[in-house]
Amino acid sequence: MSAPVLIIGGMDSSGGAGVLRDAATVAALGGDSRVAVTAVTAQSDRAVSAVHMVPPAVVAAQIITAAQGPIGAAKVGMLVTRRIVETVAEVLPDAPLVLDPVIRSSSGRTLLDSGGVRALIATLLPRTTVLTPNLPELAALAAQVDLAADAAEPAIARALLAQGCQAVLVKGGHADAGDMAEDRLYLGGGDPIRLTAPRIGIRLRGTGCFLASAIALYLARGDSIPEAAGRAKQDMQARFVSVATAAEPG
Ligand code: PLP
Repeated sequence: MSAPVLIIGGMDSSGGAGVLRDAATVAALGGDSRVAVTAVTAQSDRAVSAVHMVPPAVVAAQIITAAQGPIGAAKVGMLVTRRIVETVAEVLPDAPLVLDPVIRSSSGRTLLDSGGVRALIATLLPRTTVLTPNLPELAALAAQVDLAADAAEPAIARALLAQGCQAVLVKGGHADAGDMAEDRLYLGGGDPIRLTAPRIGIRLRGTGCFLASAIALYLARGDSIPEAAGRAKQDMQARFVSVATAAEPG
């Protein structure tokens, strides 16, 4: 058994995303977690109706208390504001870090303000092992590294790597076309490693949380970055294909 994964992020009352999904993922894969909540949200699968930020001092206290024991890796999701980003950066234990840059919900609500995105790049990115943006998040991050939102993906990935993270895993699930969903893992110069799997037919929430949490668990167990990303993608596929099949009418 590896040391627990420290999960830092928001509560999603629908259970679709956020720390509940993260902890369930780690548990399903046989791991143990500690949790620090940054915000309480009221949301359904269609809309976010309320966001209540947890005071930064209470976020810090949760992390400091969790880190009194061993931590194998951390997974960071929704952070809401610059102050919470900076607080997390100050107290985060030294362990592999998977940073899911949660900026906006699928329903269009801003979950991290622009000052928060800038702080994320300045304070957390240099400590990040794997950054896991989807395509809209990659475009939002581009603006903060002096690139146009429609700059080429490899250029944005390189600019983010230049800020100090070890890997950028771009999740291609938001691209419209094709039967295959492809994620691209950028580790430095050169071509990315392509992780492909059949596209899950219906849009499901929580896939990004699942992937990032599973990567954190595998890093805690000592996998390399490509091993952890490949395994997590396979697990995600296995889990969500069965959910999608069960959800299909008739
Ligand atoms: N709410 C919380 C607490 C989240 O962590 C996330 C994403 O990680 C979301 C909402 C957004 O999820 P979705 O893109 O499925 O709307």
